[in-house]
Amino acid sequence: MRLSRYFLPVLKETPAEAQIVSHRLMLRAGMIRQASAGIYSWLPLGYRVLRRIERIVHEEQQRAGHIPVLMPTLQSADLWRQSGRYDAYGPEMLRLKDRHDREMLYGPTNEEMITEIVAGYVTSYKALPLTLYHIQWKFRDEVRPRFGVMRGREFLMKDGYNFDLTKEDALHAYNRHLVSYLRTYERMGLQAIPMRADSGPIGGDYTHEFLVLAETGESEVFYDSAITDLTFGDRAIDYDDHAQCQAVLEEFTSRYARTDETHDAAVFAEVPEARRRSARGIEVGQIFYFGTAYSESIGAYVQNEAGDRVPLHMGSHGIGVSRLAGALIEANHDDNGIIWPEAVAPFHVGIVNLRQGDAGTDAACEEIYAALRAAGLDPLYDDRDERAGGKFATMDLIGLPWRVTVGPRGLKNGVVEVTSRRTGESEEMSPEAAIARIAEIYAPHIGSPPLA
Ligand code: ATP
Ligand code: MG
Repeated sequence: MRLSRYFLPVLKETPAEAQIVSHRLMLRAGMIRQASAGIYSWLPLGYRVLRRIERIVHEEQQRAGHIPVLMPTLQSADLWRQSGRYDAYGPEMLRLKDRHDREMLYGPTNEEMITEIVAGYVTSYKALPLTLYHIQWKFRDEVRPRFGVMRGREFLMKDGYNFDLTKEDALHAYNRHLVSYLRTYERMGLQAIPMRADSGPIGGDYTHEFLVLAETGESEVFYDSAITDLTFGDRAIDYDDHAQCQAVLEEFTSRYARTDETHDAAVFAEVPEARRRSARGIEVGQIFYFGTAYSESIGAYVQNEAGDRVPLHMGSHGIGVSRLAGALIEANHDDNGIIWPEAVAPFHVGIVNLRQGDAGTDAACEEIYAALRAAGLDPLYDDRDERAGGKFATMDLIGLPWRVTVGPRGLKNGVVEVTSRRTGESEEMSPEAAIARIAEIYAPHIGSPPLA
């Protein structure tokens, strides 16, 4: 993309209404624009990041064997009356009526709808196990929408639902989600710690929230610092293997890590004092096994091997896709702006032309731009007639991980400059070497597998 033809409305001033750094930077970098309280338009740069996040979520869900669908945002009140949640949900639910006076709602979540779909087709245990998910907008009329996309009213969520014959199988689905979530967040360059959470009104012992540690997080958390040493890495995992998934769950949940809702001071006191931490965290996901409540109320039953009619065991599993854009910035920024991890960077590399209009410099930039694109990369070429300082400030603000700076002086010696946004370190090399370097850095991040 050429910046002269792009739509990147960066702001010079720090918006007064934004209380936390991610919100400020998203506004300043021209990523989002508020439409009304807690409701945002995603401008081109923000939309790119959102799609990069979505893509990783899709790939990791499908790697785990989960199947994508897309359910509507508007749902019928009658379906929610069957589960008893239409009245129970309270003022967070946005309720509306169509022209025939039929009661509708903008979905805050989709347990009822997905259960109704599965109930309509699945009649035998042979169709199981089954996990369906979608990435769709949700609406929750939060009392205090704030912090930009972190606590919106309209927000994008990946929500997945497993359907299994037995509790044991459903707990395997739970473990499988835990593993896939660990991979998902790590791929984005984030550490999200699974913490024992409160299961709320539905009950049950099986729920974990994934928290990114950040001072601005809304949740209070308590943990054994040893847990922050764990990484999933690139280990191979067979998602159908119950024992393997169970072992990962045990590895990542055996240390003390809880939100304030489940915090138990007496148990926490058993953690060696030097490792006891209390901090704040951003909830970027939650997994949940809840049994047969929805399958019984909506009517999702199958015949088991013995021919008995039994309700399906279910769980639901969410990732805050739009919240992640904010959480990623909370975890990756400095005084000059955002520092995107390579995996979610809106553009892979910025090209800064120091002497726009100089024939040699323009030609060198064009060549680098074309070569990077030919290598499957997404460069952003700042081809505007602006001062170098302004170009650098924009690149730093929008946080592209790598910058190639091209000027007449360097070209005379046959070099351009490659700069890391994270370390600030620069290295001079030939244009060819710069292209090869950037392509090598991004090799693990491009060339996605086909989608299911
Ligand atoms: P919270 O406790 O933050 O209100 P929740 O527990 O009600 O969230 P879930 O139902 O678990 O949310 O939804 C799954 C994920 O969706 C959450 O882990 C979070 O990342 C994201 N999410 C929930 N509410 C919002 C919101 N208002 N704005 C942005 N993302 C949200
Ligand atoms: Mg939650």
